[in-house]
Amino acid sequence: MTGGRPPILPGSTLGVLGGGQLGRMFVHAAQQLGFFTAVLDPDADSPAGRVSHLHIRTPYLDADGLARLGREAAAVTTEFENVPAQALAQLAEAVPVAPGAEAVAIAQDRAREKAHFMRCGVPCAPHAVIETEAQLQQVDAALLPGILKTSRLGYDGKGQARVATRAELAAAWDDLQRVPCVLEQLLPLAFECSVVVARGADGAMVNLPVQRNLHRGGILALTEVGEGLLPAAVAAQAIDATRAIADGLRYVGVLCVEFFGLHDGRLVVNEMAPRPHNSGHWSIDAADVSQFELQVRTLAGLPLVQPRQHSHAVMLNLLGDLWFAHGSEQAPPWPEVLALPGTHLHLYGKPQARPGRKMGHLTVTGATPGAARKTARRACELLGLAF
Ligand code: ATP
Ligand code: MG
Repeated sequence: MTGGRPPILPGSTLGVLGGGQLGRMFVHAAQQLGFFTAVLDPDADSPAGRVSHLHIRTPYLDADGLARLGREAAAVTTEFENVPAQALAQLAEAVPVAPGAEAVAIAQDRAREKAHFMRCGVPCAPHAVIETEAQLQQVDAALLPGILKTSRLGYDGKGQARVATRAELAAAWDDLQRVPCVLEQLLPLAFECSVVVARGADGAMVNLPVQRNLHRGGILALTEVGEGLLPAAVAAQAIDATRAIADGLRYVGVLCVEFFGLHDGRLVVNEMAPRPHNSGHWSIDAADVSQFELQVRTLAGLPLVQPRQHSHAVMLNLLGDLWFAHGSEQAPPWPEVLALPGTHLHLYGKPQARPGRKMGHLTVTGATPGAARKTARRACELLGLAF
């Protein structure tokens, strides 16, 4: 996408490749601003397809489906990071696409992603690329214990194995079918955090405040955002690093960068997502511009303004496991949860709950950190979640 083109105005159609929950929340934000929406996703029940004005139900690489999306939409974005780069490239011939295929391709590949971080001067975990038997044999013992991660197609901790010895490493690589991988040193994490930025085609950039994240079993469980959660210097460092990473890609769109905070005070980058991120969902209810509105604005070429957080926020992910708390499938006690002041329930309309599946999230807002946390703790009790 080039700078200087006139903005796409409300009343036009914005397209999104992928119909998951991120696409659904993009559609909501686009429609709020008066845009029409088109979603391409093969699944009849996709969360975004069900709320979009137009749902093109074809595979992501279907030439006719992509051509139709390119005709219907004035610009197209993506909502999942494993979208085939080829699909973006085909669309880009017809219509402005943001983020661009190249930035998405880098984010899709852990080895290229880490090389980009280092180019930008942002430290990441010590690691080695493992694509050949020789590379496996030559791995530096200092990387163990470590985490072996597939270079491509991982999400929510999938495609990862913790390994303590060379024998475990070799066995884990076999289990992963010897696809290209990255071995990362297992770092002692003091905390995890992430930053969402939005960058326009003219290079203008805004950011959401730093988000403190808690993962369980490799899946984001909880995000908290507000004053005093992290030292100011750490927050500033994370924001500066994220901006450098986005600038280095000449990125257009919303980008999230995840970080590890180490016990010795160092901050290292984990990975990036070329789209809005689960850890930024709180911004719908606790900021005056959400990450999804930022995605709409960057795609349409509308002005970016620095979001202002107006409430302290705790976001809890609602995984399918909650539906099976009593054995058979049963919805959690929503009326009781909604009786708590400051709770904002978001369910993605997925027809079937499954363990580990992201079914929705609950954002709890409060005037003070204490108030938000107290309500979040009560919501967790009702839901049977650890807090
Ligand atoms: P998602 O798509 O949910 O972001 P992912 O599958 O891409 O997840 P990662 O972000 O690489 O996975 O890892 C998931 C979690 O596992 C991290 O947030 C962190 O809690 C833990 N983890 C990953 N790498 C390391 C590491 N090198 N040292 C310590 N913990 C790690
Ligand atoms: Mg991650």
